[in-house]
Amino acid sequence: MVLTTLRCAKALQLTLAVIKPDAVAHPLILEALHQKILKNKFIIVRSKDLIWRRQDSERFYAEHKGRFFYQRLVEFMSSGPMRAYILARENAISQWRELMGPTKVFRARYIAPGTIRALYGLTDTRNTTHGSDSVESAQREIAFFFPEFSVEEWMEQTEPSFRKGH
Ligand code: UDP
Repeated sequence: MVLTTLRCAKALQLTLAVIKPDAVAHPLILEALHQKILKNKFIIVRSKDLIWRRQDSERFYAEHKGRFFYQRLVEFMSSGPMRAYILARENAISQWRELMGPTKVFRARYIAPGTIRALYGLTDTRNTTHGSDSVESAQREIAFFFPEFSVEEWMEQTEPSFRKGH
C-alpha cells in the first residue's frame, strides 16, 4: 500500500501546452505564463517558438471543422507566433488544464477567477493557452508539435520513474 503510494507520487506524466498568439504578442503575459509553469512545478522537457501555416491550424483543429468558430479559430492560430511546451509533472494533463481554466473566457471569469484564461483571455477564441485533454491527445499533440521527440525514449532514458497513464 505504502509502496504503491510512493511510486505513484513519483510518476510523471507529459502534456502539451501552447501559449497562443494573443498571449505571445504581449511579452509581459508570455513571461507571466512561463513563470506560472515553473512556479507550479512543471518540468519543461522541450519548448519551441513557432508560427503555423493555415493548413497546420486546419489539421490540428480538424475535429472542430464545421463548428461556428472553426474559421476564426484556424485564422487566429495561424496569425502569429506561438510557444509550445512539453511539460512533465504528476498529473500534468489535469493540472495544466486546471491552471488554464474553462474554454470560454467569460465563464472562466465567473466560475474560475484567477485561472489563466480568466486573467488574460480576450475572447472565447483568443483564450491564451491550449492544453491536451487526455493521455491519447497528449501523445498525438506532442507528436504534432515535436515530431522529433520520442516519448518512449524520454521515458526510458531520462525518467525511469515515469509510469504510463499516470
Ligand atoms: N473555441 C472558440 N469558441 C468556442 C469554443 C472553442 O473559439 O465556443 C476555440 C478556443 O480557442 C478553444 C479551441 O476552440 O480553445 C478548442 O476548443 P475546445 O473545445 O477543444 O477547448 P479547449 O480544450 O481549448 O478548452
